[in-house]
Amino acid sequence: MTALDCLFCNIVAAEIPADIVYESSDVIAFRDINPQAPTHVVIVPRRHIATINDLENSDAEIVGQLFLAARDIASQEGFAKDGYRVTMNCNAAAGQTVFHIHLHLLGGRNFSWPPG
Ligand code: AMP
Ligand code: ZN
Repeated sequence: MTALDCLFCNIVAAEIPADIVYESSDVIAFRDINPQAPTHVVIVPRRHIATINDLENSDAEIVGQLFLAARDIASQEGFAKDGYRVTMNCNAAAGQTVFHIHLHLLGGRNFSWPPG
């Protein structure tokens, strides 16, 4: 897969519009087009990495940045104290549909456990 084929690479490149809520040099976050909670944001590295299985040890810093972005966006959106959920799906059994890693940040309602 090249960047041209990847939906989230196209959003990073501003070839496809998105409602961006957070940007840093390595990470962007935008509102999910099919939200599963009052706030549902997708946090992605600017660099293409297809799945968790494709992470290298040297990617530890970028993975950490996804979580730091989740912390900051949860605070911005006003549900940091109440609580929120972050999820990253990997491959078919987990329902991954876009093969550019992304952390889902969901907030603004209560969540059940176990997840579906
Ligand atoms: P996953 O199923 O974990 O791979 O998540 C992919 C997410 O991307 C889903 O929640 C989709 O609703 C979301 N999505 C797909 N297309 C877009 C888009 N153009 N803009 C924002 N979110 C999108
Ligand atoms: Zn990509």
